[in-house]
This record gives sequence, C-alpha cells and structure tokens, in this order.
Amino acid sequence: MIRKIALVAHDARKQELVSWVRFNAGSLKDCTLFCTGTTGRLVEEALSEVLGENKPQMEKLLSGPLGGDAQIGALIAEGKVDMLVFFCDNLIMQGHQNDVMSLVRLASLYNIPFATNRSTADFIISSPLYRDETYERIIPACIESYKNRKL
Ligand code: PGA
Repeated sequence: MIRKIALVAHDARKQELVSWVRFNAGSLKDCTLFCTGTTGRLVEEALSEVLGENKPQMEKLLSGPLGGDAQIGALIAEGKVDMLVFFCDNLIMQGHQNDVMSLVRLASLYNIPFATNRSTADFIISSPLYRDETYERIIPACIESYKNRKL
C-alpha cells in the first residue's frame, strides 16, 4: 500500500503537477507527502482548497536547486518513500541536473513506483496495488549483494 509520496516539479511543469494533485486529491488525502519547497507550497495551497482540513500531512523540504532533490533521494535510500512523482522540465538543463539524475537513479535502484509524466502518475494511483495492504515492494537483491560484496 502506498502511504508516503514524494512530489517534485520543475517550474515549467508545476501547474501540471498541481492539476494532477487536484484531480487525485481523494487518493492523496490519507498519505504523507514529501515535496521540494516551492512544489510543496503550491501543492499545499491546492489541497487546502480542495480538501480543507482533510488535507494530507505534508513535509516541505528545501527547494530542489538548494538540495531538496537530494533530500528526497536520501529519503528513498532510507526506505521512507513509497512512490515518486517527478515532473522534470525535459526542454532545458537544470543548474542542479546532477541532483535530478541522482534522484532518478535512486528511484530506479530502490524499485520505487515512479512517474515522470501525468499519464503514468494516473495509472499508478488508480492501480489496485495502490491500496493493497498486502503488497510489498521488492527491494532488489543487488542492494544486499552490494553491501556484502567481497573486497
Ligand atoms: P522546487 O524544486 O519545488 O523548490 O521548485 C523543484 C526542483 O527544481 O527540483
């Protein structure tokens, strides 16, 4: 079951993420949301409007270029994130492109359900597995093997 969701959007795609959040507010209300700073501010405004006092718990981290993407990557590595929605600007390079690539890498490494566009985010959130309490994400065996590698 998905309970902890990280949300990040670059400036050119923030309105798209806000629109997705409004559309899926009902599915997000029982979750904890981790957001980079500015994304978090906009998401919180939207969810307050739609859900009022029922809005989900939110943790706003640093702004992405100031370390927020790296914070979300660290949360993924610590097993504290169940799903990532990351709407990247695909038309320009970011000043913090290395952090963007690192976040994508960690989401892939730790087998996090992970959407970089709206359709995928809709498919994940409407999957029966989204609410399935018995579903457990598999932690890839390569992680344990790496920790125990022979040196
Ligand atoms: P922001 O960061 O939500 O603080 O704008 C997002 C990013 O650029 O990674």
